Amino acid sequence: MTESLKGISGSMFAGKTELLLKEISRAEYGGKQVQVFKPAIDDRWGTISSIKSHSNGVHEAIVIQNSVDILDNLDPKTQLVAIEEIQFFDPEIVDVVQALLEADIRVVFAGLSQDFRGEPFGSMPELLSLCDEIEKPTAICTENIDGIPCGQPATKTQRIVNGQPANYNDPIVLIGAEQEYQARCVKHHKVPGKPNPKLKAHSK
Ligand SMILES: [Zn+2]
Repeated sequence: MTESLKGISGSMFAGKTELLLKEISRAEYGGKQVQVFKPAIDDRWGTISSIKSHSNGVHEAIVIQNSVDILDNLDPKTQLVAIEEIQFFDPEIVDVVQALLEADIRVVFAGLSQDFRGEPFGSMPELLSLCDEIEKPTAICTENIDGIPCGQPATKTQRIVNGQPANYNDPIVLIGAEQEYQARCVKHHKVPGKPNPKLKAHSK
């Protein structure tokens, strides 16, 4: 028997951690044993071993370097494994998740579906394809139009460097101050230097 897999996927500021914390609370209210893991790279909130949402929810978490460390740190009594910022893990995370499910452990993860370029992030495409359930919260576009925020649902993460949209060729991973990233709708997501999609004409 295998357990179910749930993914929470969206841009930054979409409330992914809040939803992950809700899953954890529900399981714990139901008497389930829960373990929470997050990659060492997620240092937005310092190096303390917990996960926090923007609305101040908090839960203890085990900070690990590699995805296999989840199996090494697994408590035999655990019934739910929650994984935060899963897009930062190495590709073996897919096998690790499947091993947990086969061991009859439910897995819920939260992750950024796309990087700042609007391209798939890490193992998210493969992980999402394995999910029994996917929740896709959106943020609110904060692009200013004549001093008023756009306000449309945001599915993209805009990276800002020195007050300007980051270039396509800038490195993907730069975790830091909140002001370096903003939620944007599709219309207001800007990636200078991004190649146009190459659509091949139908050849006969
Ligand atoms: Zn917008």
